[in-house]
Amino acid sequence: PELSYKLYKGLPKKKPVKRPLRIALLTREPNNYSSRRLVEAARKRGHVIETIDTARCYMQIGTLDPQVHYDGQALPRYDAVIPRIGAKITDYGMAVLRQFSNTGAVCLNEAGAIGRSRDKLLAQQLLARAKIAMPVTAFAHSPKDTKDLIGLVDGAPVVLKLLTSTQGRGVVLAETRKAAESLVDAFRGLDANFLVQEFVEEAAGADVRAFVIGNKVVGAMKRQAQKGEFRSNLHRGGTASSVRLTADERETARAAAKVLGLSVAGVDLLQTRDGPKVLEVNSSPGLEGIENASGKDIAGQIIEHLERQVRPLSSDRETT
Ligand code: ADP
Ligand code: GLU
Repeated sequence: PELSYKLYKGLPKKKPVKRPLRIALLTREPNNYSSRRLVEAARKRGHVIETIDTARCYMQIGTLDPQVHYDGQALPRYDAVIPRIGAKITDYGMAVLRQFSNTGAVCLNEAGAIGRSRDKLLAQQLLARAKIAMPVTAFAHSPKDTKDLIGLVDGAPVVLKLLTSTQGRGVVLAETRKAAESLVDAFRGLDANFLVQEFVEEAAGADVRAFVIGNKVVGAMKRQAQKGEFRSNLHRGGTASSVRLTADERETARAAAKVLGLSVAGVDLLQTRDGPKVLEVNSSPGLEGIENASGKDIAGQIIEHLERQVRPLSSDRETT
């Protein structure tokens, strides 16, 4: 995005190009709110958009003419691809996205960036290297020393998270050291990958989601957990409301997306005594909660951003 922006600034001033784009929306859920809104927003701006089921794409690799196949046919060339890749098919979805990229399509988020955000260990290491604040987190592969692992995050209460889970399902709070030890033992017995994290009590069952598009925070919401619950996920009964972020929160969200290389991201932050701490950076953030809470046309802004991503580099195809 940085590079194309500079190229754009460097080009002689021309009238904005009105050529409609041919866009593919890569998703396994064409009927969910986010997909419907993206299709609607693209059509409203005059583009042609099709939804493509990621899992049903197949490809031949190694030819000079890369193509993506679907249902017995080669797909047409797209100007742009919007990836909405679910956690279950991250690896294959990234391969499909790379193939689209090889055909010359601009990807809203690149495969590499999606991979960096999905790999929680890698994401945390990259954020830490960039000095972006996060809750203190311990990772281990097959920890023999349960006590030491818990000690690394300063003891109970701690939060344990299964790395394969989403929507708050595999996130548990251990209030005492004993509980933490037995949970670590249980997870280890299941051969599950997990992390242990300091519990940020003052967040009080709330977190904020900052929606980043092209290096800018375009909307935000605060999610508050149900009474007696510390997980604020909407899937866990949390409620969303609009919130005004501090400059520090905006800057942290922007920086987190940038470090991972995501041009569109949902950055989850805990509000702590020491300022915002990044919980997670989501590469396919849902639109329903954020559009309802913020009252903003986020889908429209994503499509506008895509137009800017495509056009600066395709001046050879302009027809002004
Ligand atoms: P998931 O990716 O499954 O949603 P999260 O890591 O985002 O899992 O955790 C789910 C929710 O639990 C968060 O939205 C937040 O409200 C709460 N939470 C997670 N980690 C912590 C923590 N270290 N301290 C306090 N609350 C937390
Ligand atoms: N995990 C996504 C989020 O919390 C939701 C995915 C979706 O609804 O498309 O934003």
